[in-house]
Amino acid sequence: MIVVHIDHDRGAIDPLSLQALSAACSLEDTVVAVVATDASLPDASYAELREFGASEIRIATHPGLADFAPAATARALTEVVAQLQPAAVLAAGSARGNEVMAHLAAMLDLPLATDCTSITLGADASTVTRARWGGNLLEEAEVIASLLLASTLPHAYAATPASAAGTVTSWQPELADADVLVRVVDRVTPSGSGGVGLGEAKVIVSGGRGVGGPEGFASLDELAELLGGTVGCSRVVTSAGWRPHAEQVGQTGTKVAPDLYIACGISGATQHLAGCKNSKTLIAINTDPDAPIMKVADYVVVDDLHAVLPEVINALRH
Ligand SMILES: Cc1cc2nc3c(=O)[nH]c(=O)nc-3n(C[C@H](O)[C@H](O)[C@H](O)COP(=O)(O)OP(=O)(O)OC[C@H]3O[C@@H](n4cnc5c(N)ncnc54)[C@H](O)[C@@H]3O)c2cc1C
Repeated sequence: MIVVHIDHDRGAIDPLSLQALSAACSLEDTVVAVVATDASLPDASYAELREFGASEIRIATHPGLADFAPAATARALTEVVAQLQPAAVLAAGSARGNEVMAHLAAMLDLPLATDCTSITLGADASTVTRARWGGNLLEEAEVIASLLLASTLPHAYAATPASAAGTVTSWQPELADADVLVRVVDRVTPSGSGGVGLGEAKVIVSGGRGVGGPEGFASLDELAELLGGTVGCSRVVTSAGWRPHAEQVGQTGTKVAPDLYIACGISGATQHLAGCKNSKTLIAINTDPDAPIMKVADYVVVDDLHAVLPEVINALRH
């Protein structure tokens, strides 16, 4: 049996958690989905967990779990582990999923294998393939532990329907004050995002140093809005304070997989490509035909982005 930590945003299941659920279903028949919350989930979320193979759904209910609380969630998972003695605990290899799993590993004093692309379970040791160095290196590792703790690399596993019973039970975990010290207590909606998060955006218009400054992003904001997408950026941009870190794409930002990624004035450093290489179509606009991104893009425009974007916007408006 495998336990899967399911992340959610105010009841809406994280799509990456469904990928982790599918990874678990490919390994074992019995998969227990564990969700931490202060209330129950919407019916649609239970239905989704059943549709993607949860044999059982356990809801850890506690006021301290009203929003993302990594240590408290991990503490709740320790109770499930003690009760069910699973072969593995999996989670999505998102920043949040990895944080919960890191707490769990520390609490159980066990190793954690993050960003796995394949997993073979064994009695006393499991074999995993992990993405390292922003996905540029695949490492095969043996994890010597009777309980495997692992996260799945975003988009390495497809969320595959596998209908299951998904019986629901809930319990109140015992949380100490220290467990709820770190938790989300407030949310601020970023301006100009149109409410679409980077992770789920189908279209991302992303800017790098070549944009030239914060005011240069006006045309990227406009294009993103016209295409029903959102704006992303490189680390140079967030380091300079032109845009918030929440918009950073890459190894130390968000890993995205939109239908369309438009890279404007971004050179294509490996750490940036680590975050956008799963885009279905990548268009690069760059003055330098030899920039690394030009070699990986599906379509390239060798020109000044400040000349190209107004023309594209104009064409879309008329
Ligand atoms: C440990 C580590 C983690 C990192 N994590 C990340 C990460 O998560 N995300 C990330 O992005 N980076 C990350 N980096 C930084 C990364 O190595 C690069 O420094 C960064 O991605 C470069 O950003 P850039 O492409 O915007 O800038 P540059 O490399 O300076 O490229 C600017 C590009 O703009 C083009 N340009 C200039 N003017 C124009 C114009 N008018 N029109 C069109 N094109 C123009 C230039 O030809 C150039 O190709 C990380 C680095 C390290 C060491």
